[in-house]
Amino acid sequence: MQLTHKILLNPTPAQAEYFQKAAGTARFVWNWALAKWNELYSLGKKPNAMALKKSFNAIKYEEFPWLSEMHRDSHAQPFSHLAKAWNRFFAEIRSKKPANEPRFKKKNRSRDSFYVANDKFTLNEKMIKLPKIGWVMMTEVLRFDGKILGATVSRTADKWFLAIQVDVPTDQANQSRTANQVIGVDFGIKAAATLSTGESIAAASPLKSALRRLKIRSRTISRKINAAKQAAGFDKNKNLPKGAQIPQSNNRKKSTLKLARLHARIGNLRADFTHKLTTRLCRENQAIVIEDLHVAGMLQNEKLARAFNCLDIARGMNPRARSTGNSSPLTIPHYYCARGKPRGINFNDVGFGTIRRQLEYKTLRYGNNLIIADRWYPSSKLCSVCHWKNDALLLQERTWYCPRCTTTHDRDVNAARNLKRLATETALPVANQLATNDTAIGGVPIVVGKVTPVRYECGQQDTSGQEENRVHICAHF
Ligand SMILES: [Zn+2]
Repeated sequence: MQLTHKILLNPTPAQAEYFQKAAGTARFVWNWALAKWNELYSLGKKPNAMALKKSFNAIKYEEFPWLSEMHRDSHAQPFSHLAKAWNRFFAEIRSKKPANEPRFKKKNRSRDSFYVANDKFTLNEKMIKLPKIGWVMMTEVLRFDGKILGATVSRTADKWFLAIQVDVPTDQANQSRTANQVIGVDFGIKAAATLSTGESIAAASPLKSALRRLKIRSRTISRKINAAKQAAGFDKNKNLPKGAQIPQSNNRKKSTLKLARLHARIGNLRADFTHKLTTRLCRENQAIVIEDLHVAGMLQNEKLARAFNCLDIARGMNPRARSTGNSSPLTIPHYYCARGKPRGINFNDVGFGTIRRQLEYKTLRYGNNLIIADRWYPSSKLCSVCHWKNDALLLQERTWYCPRCTTTHDRDVNAARNLKRLATETALPVANQLATNDTAIGGVPIVVGKVTPVRYECGQQDTSGQEENRVHICAHF
């Protein structure tokens, strides 16, 4: 199993300067390759990353002599990264998913990072020997034992990290559970997670407490940017014309760094929360049922959309660029200053996508069943006691009363119980069948994927699918 350990580095100022240069080189080469790629493509040719790399190698030291100061991994790897990016793009198009083509990386807007191949570095306890700069101090010893596949050096705010990819033998990667419960988890806007046991887990809301600070720091910078714009003769209320530059004062650099550190801190708090939650779920349960959260669908709902968009803005991410995942810690998003009025909005500081991704890989290590309910499964609307369906349930109703069995439901707990029922009634027998002939860790099979229990039992299938299925599922319970 491939695992990554990300370790904070303690470079000397000279080493940090080299990191910055190497990351800049990687970005430069990526942009060079992408420009050539687009050029060839517009000429009707079929570009190829390896051929591009060859032609780059032929001219690089002549045209870009400064490259000889850098280790070759930083200017060789972007080609295969680009190839990967294009492959992913075409795969997304083929599977009719929303696709984003590779884009140019802008200084201060894209993540600073570069790759080091596994034969180019040596580890010795809390030290790593990197090409060109020698031994760099690490703050931790590499946690995993196995074949080292490669490493990436990257920057968050003013800190440098080393992520080492290791191929860990399966028996070492496996973790043992402390209990074997079955649990349904409802992720929500109000409570971060509600468990079918009735427990409600509040979001660690680092954002809420850091929000005031975030506003102050953003305002400070926006003021400095406006002043610089005016000094350079631009209208401070308008975006800079393309290609225009305004000088960056030292004070602006300092406050930019301060804001970046705050963003990084918020990110750390959020990661701490999601990791603890997902690890706990995996450690205590043999089966976990979650919903297939349809974020695009949620965005159609005005209230939820607001929570989501503001969340992006507060994270310092451009809501329009969310699909690219480009967060830019060292730059000041102008739109934050202009549009970020988070007061009065119910923030929930949870990344659903992150939680799901963490569950997906942790269930492999703990050997759980991860059951993802179909997104049309009406978990909130069904009565978890008598299976009556409350079609009239509105989003803002936090509790509701079932007239058939006279139970009063808490909306989230009821949803979590319905999800749990999905596992105990339908999914587990299916999963157990798989276990007889497939890999089973500790006697529990791994099922990662969608469980749509009723869909295939109800003959009538509408070609457009979804609505029809929804009716069938409800009719069944
Ligand atoms: Zn009922």
